Amino acid sequence: MSAGAIGPERRLIDACVHCGFCLPACPTYQLSANEAESPRGRIDLMRRYSDGALKLDSDFVAHIDSCLGCMACVKACPSGVEYETLIVEARAMIQASFVRPASQRLVRKAIFALMPYPRRMRPLVRLGGMAKQMFGSRVVAAAGARGGLAGAVASALALLPRTTGAARPARNRLYSAAGPKRGTVGLLTGCVSSVIFSSTEQAAIDVLRAEGFDVLVPAGQGCCGALAEHAGEARLAGRLARAMVGKLGRERVDAWITTSAGCGSTLKSYDRLLADDTAAAEFSGRIRDIHEFLYQKGLRADYGPLNIRVAYHPACHLANAQGIVDEPLALLRSIPGCEVLTPAQAGTCCGSAGIYNLVEPATAERLGVAKAASIAELGVDVVATGNPGCLLQISRYSDPGLESTHPVELLARALHAAPV
Ligand code: SF4
Ligand code: SF4
Repeated sequence: MSAGAIGPERRLIDACVHCGFCLPACPTYQLSANEAESPRGRIDLMRRYSDGALKLDSDFVAHIDSCLGCMACVKACPSGVEYETLIVEARAMIQASFVRPASQRLVRKAIFALMPYPRRMRPLVRLGGMAKQMFGSRVVAAAGARGGLAGAVASALALLPRTTGAARPARNRLYSAAGPKRGTVGLLTGCVSSVIFSSTEQAAIDVLRAEGFDVLVPAGQGCCGALAEHAGEARLAGRLARAMVGKLGRERVDAWITTSAGCGSTLKSYDRLLADDTAAAEFSGRIRDIHEFLYQKGLRADYGPLNIRVAYHPACHLANAQGIVDEPLALLRSIPGCEVLTPAQAGTCCGSAGIYNLVEPATAERLGVAKAASIAELGVDVVATGNPGCLLQISRYSDPGLESTHPVELLARALHAAPV
């Protein structure tokens, strides 16, 4: 491929002054000690491509693919380099201009034909859970390190919970506030999380109602486009985002609440994804992560004691991409009898990273194993994190006896434990 095609904006590339402060924060650099696997190295590849000194070849693509998109470098960068935009634009350029090997194309095609669509995912998740029970998680986990379509399928099976448990809350319904009303919110149900994490949805509804909010749960919401955007599938991401704004943009709610850090990060960036679309910008301005929303409003309901030790893992797209760091900790610490600990290297990505653990299973496994070990050292009863992908990834590599859940599920449990 020749240089000069679409790609990361030159002014964003030139904002990097090569200081290297981001290097110690970058998990792929920590694992490889390879400059090309660091944020500075990847930006330099973009610069050299933009100068025409480098081709868009498989080497270039491999270094861009191996980035987790965890944004730890953004937090570490004193020059304010907009790395998130750079990596999204570099990946979109690759998808538009580079012909991947057939096996990679097949994996990506399968992922994006299935994951954004809950109706297609639901029967597959059910079948996958049964297959996992029949063949044992060790077999599928071992197969996952192989790569290719078989590896991606095995990784997906290994990530699945044995059961999706709770019943899905009814759609197309307004759940009324319990007690004096403080406002009306809409709950965004997402794609994968609406299939696997019904218990998180139910907990969010319970807590928001108890805190005095009417909760609207529209039917057929669809996918926000986050998985596609982070993987460079710009056209699909734009289409999904536009459909979501068209469907939900006119609903009269004070805020749209998401329980998924990855979705929240993209939903808040619709002004970038759908530039010049005022309806998208207005919709985007009403997006709140549930921790952020509850913390800003202040908890007023009665929460009973849980008497548990909880490890909190800060999801990258919550802490780094949205700057929501203290809120989840404060909410968990407000539960009586809830001791909250943070693991060593808490800010290092767990290896989930959107579709990363399906397409880069070897690196994802190293990060997942390290994250699970740092949590196990704490000797906790529960690990809590605000992103569905992180929950699946951490569960996969943790002792099956360790409960993993969303912080809002602990709040809901405490609500039910309150004296009446
Ligand atoms: S997003 Fe994460 S993996 Fe990618 S360059 Fe930044 S710190 Fe490294
Ligand atoms: S910290 Fe920022 S300016 Fe320095 S090398 Fe990293 S990205 Fe570039």
